[in-house]
Amino acid sequence: NAFFNRHDHHGHHDGQAVGQSPKQVIGEALRQRVENIDHESCDPGEEDTFYIADLGEVYRQHLRWKRNLPRVKPFYAVKCNADQTLLNMLSALGTGFDCASKTEIEQVLRMGVEPSRIIYAQPCKTNSYLRFVASKGVRQMTFDNPDELRKIARFYPDAELYLRILTDDSSSLCRLSLKFGASLDSTDGLLALARELGLNVVGVSFHVGSGASDPQAFHKAVRDAHWVFQQAATHGFHLKTLDVGGGFCSDSFEEMAGVLRNALDDYFPAHSGINLIAEPGRFYASSAFTLACNVIARRTIEDASGRDASYMVYINDGLYGNFSCIMFDHQNPEAKVLRAGGRMLYNTPAAEAAAGGSGIEYSIWGPTCDGIDRITESIRFHTELDVGDWLYFENMGAYTKCSATTFNGFSNEHDVVYICSEPGARALLGWL
Ligand code: PLP
Repeated sequence: NAFFNRHDHHGHHDGQAVGQSPKQVIGEALRQRVENIDHESCDPGEEDTFYIADLGEVYRQHLRWKRNLPRVKPFYAVKCNADQTLLNMLSALGTGFDCASKTEIEQVLRMGVEPSRIIYAQPCKTNSYLRFVASKGVRQMTFDNPDELRKIARFYPDAELYLRILTDDSSSLCRLSLKFGASLDSTDGLLALARELGLNVVGVSFHVGSGASDPQAFHKAVRDAHWVFQQAATHGFHLKTLDVGGGFCSDSFEEMAGVLRNALDDYFPAHSGINLIAEPGRFYASSAFTLACNVIARRTIEDASGRDASYMVYINDGLYGNFSCIMFDHQNPEAKVLRAGGRMLYNTPAAEAAAGGSGIEYSIWGPTCDGIDRITESIRFHTELDVGDWLYFENMGAYTKCSATTFNGFSNEHDVVYICSEPGARALLGWL
């Protein structure tokens, strides 16, 4: 009983489809949007890259979180994707928010979210931002060094502080421990200083690295955090919250969550009364966004015999745009054919295969003048792609748009078509 309800930056609203799988609902939204473009006569930019955002997927991820980590309250890491409708959905689901800057905090407060649902999880904060959060009553924040403690004592002595400890992040996509985290031989001194400055340490936080792949990293971090809880008690701090950070990937989530859940049950059992929170980003955002890109140019590469041509195709988004995730987040987005030769192929691999042969080799490039702007070195499709055709890329919601630039004058503002493939989530967004 799926449905969709679409509105984009231009405020369009379409009808609903019944009895489709989430993939079909996304496919339908992609198809409608592309078929509405007259590729021969459209205005400049009408064939720009666009996103389909499926809020139903966010809802399903939230249920998955609650099933696997029922004791851990998620504070969504806004940095991952600050899309307003995504944040509205998460707020309606009751999550908190992990913010890294004044802008993110303002965005979340503007939604009417209580300051107590925000953690300013940035161990090295700007003085003026600290004064700002003090004026707004956003009390929870992290620290990991003595200079930061002195800064907080000066600008926000009433803050509720989480001591961020170092973790083994060697298996993660984006390592963070080079930059942040107190080593276990420094925590005693930090707690003593916090006490001396009259500050209020309320918890411990850690982050095993963004896009983590070793579940044991969570186990060790929880064990270390427990040790710091005990150490804090010797300084007179009765810590009440453990923040287990982010790093959760959709693919390995059940395994990761299983190890984390067991570690939490061992070291922070329910009867301990300790609150548990986390800062997942990609887990909620990645799979909810599908990106569609238009083929703007093609270069034919003949082999020596003049047969077996391969092609370089240039699309209207690249490494300097939403594919910034290739550079910054070490991703390999996989192109799929949406439309070729005027035919819509989304979700119909059979139709694509029916085109026959072993396939044609392509490399896929972004639109800027820089040679590093390559999305895919080699991929084969059965269909012949040409200018005006469309590709799509799934799992493009995390660390994509937020780090896109306007290099070469290409816009980094793209339409988002919002759909909801999950009937149970519809009321949360007021789509009735
Ligand atoms: N919390 C902090 C402090 C982070 O630095 C990050 C990512 O860099 C996150 C949470 C979110 O990580 P992820 O998207 O891998 O869950």
